[in-house]
Amino acid sequence: MNDYRVLLFYKYVNLQNPERIVLEHLQWCLQNEIKGRVFFANEGVNGTVSGLVENIEKYKSHLKKYPEFSDLWFKEDFADAQAFNKMHVRLKKEIVCSDLKDVSIEHGGKRLSPEELLKLYQEGKDFVIVDARNWYESKIGKFKNAITPPMKNFREWKNVVDEDLKEFKEKTIITYCTGGIRCEKASAYMVEKGFKDVYQLDGGIVNYIQKFPDTYWEGGMFVFDERRVIVPNEKEELKHMAHCHFCGEPTSYYINCHNQDCDKIIVSCHNCKLENDYCCSEECQRSLNKRKVTHG
Ligand SMILES: [Zn+2]
Ligand SMILES: [Zn+2]
Repeated sequence: MNDYRVLLFYKYVNLQNPERIVLEHLQWCLQNEIKGRVFFANEGVNGTVSGLVENIEKYKSHLKKYPEFSDLWFKEDFADAQAFNKMHVRLKKEIVCSDLKDVSIEHGGKRLSPEELLKLYQEGKDFVIVDARNWYESKIGKFKNAITPPMKNFREWKNVVDEDLKEFKEKTIITYCTGGIRCEKASAYMVEKGFKDVYQLDGGIVNYIQKFPDTYWEGGMFVFDERRVIVPNEKEELKHMAHCHFCGEPTSYYINCHNQDCDKIIVSCHNCKLENDYCCSEECQRSLNKRKVTHG
């Protein structure tokens, strides 16, 4: 088995010349067999990459040589293969697509450590915890008692806050997302809207489940790489919280219906996926516009 690592990182920082970094960065990654996706913008960097452990170590020191990134926080996970097929380095307007360009992250929610969140749960404190991710992410895993808004993408966050969450303005609110980047702006928007006591989970779910698996995280965690899903818990009752679309068994796995005209995201266990030929319905199985099966 090979020793790979997957890194997740971001930083909001003013970059003078992101165009220049994009080219340098792509070159460097190709030479050092780093794969994944890194976005640079005037407002900072957002990336997830994978590589052999020795290359990943080099990668971290390489990025930290830029003065703007000297204090980058890398969240790290193990893998036994590359988690990406290609390397994409892009210049963007925002490092996360949002409808929150004018929201200042200086107004962000107070940072809540995994230890503090654990304690709030253990002591049965009164708080409202909100998932700032999309519906297909929170469908397979979430924090205990979390509100999971049915967002198709992060641009709908404003609407969620203005409509669904407005009744909680006086409450203690905790927002969370995968690695923390979405919450910087999600929580700041809430503060700007007059919510009194807003926190953001520092380092996101990734940081929490590494420290405290088998506690208050239920089910799998969606990741935007070839692994698709991470299952952090060992306890049977906390392993999977979603149910197979076909047989109803607990699972955390997805398929995109292979009928390309449908492409619907559905939760499916491995067996049912094969039995239904990677499709959501018999009608889709009969489609002439089906994607080829390229992996198990
Ligand atoms: Zn099934
Ligand atoms: Zn379908």
